[in-house]
Amino acid sequence: MKSNKQKEHIVQEMLLAIGENPDRQGLKDTPRRVVEMWKENFAGYDKKKKPKVTTFDNNADGVHYDQMIVDSGYFFSHCEHHLVPFFGTYHFAYIPDKKIIGLSKVARVVDFYSARLQIQERLVKNVVDEIENALKPRGVALVIKARHLCKEMRGVEKHNGEMITSDIRGAFRKNEATRMEFMNFIK
Ligand code: ZN
Repeated sequence: MKSNKQKEHIVQEMLLAIGENPDRQGLKDTPRRVVEMWKENFAGYDKKKKPKVTTFDNNADGVHYDQMIVDSGYFFSHCEHHLVPFFGTYHFAYIPDKKIIGLSKVARVVDFYSARLQIQERLVKNVVDEIENALKPRGVALVIKARHLCKEMRGVEKHNGEMITSDIRGAFRKNEATRMEFMNFIK
């Protein structure tokens, strides 16, 4: 692991490489700020920061939950091909079996795996694997809709910047009515 000073030096080199003068007033503090920001943006490499996916017993309060539970939220990540952000919304759903989960956990798992260099396809899998493993639900589904700045800033796909990836498992895969119900929720 490199020291902060070494990391800041790398950012200075990067500024030089793009044709900047790292010593000018406005950029003096930039390497320090960038390295500070990396801590947050790339916290997903630190296994200690991996959220614990705690679950509760279904039926613990005398009610057996078997309906579809849906949650949506935002995420921000960086594409591993160009090191620029891609970001958007995620739509998560599951049908419980023996366990239920607090939805804030889903948001934390999304945040953790977003805080790495990613591709959207892998981000979906990382999150669904993690949650399926802890929850063993009857079905789980995740749809991610994202804008990729590497495309949009270059004008390659200015008119259709949104990319959609999904991972649909269990009851959502087997039962078309269940899948359609979810898809209708997130339209
Ligand atoms: Zn890219």
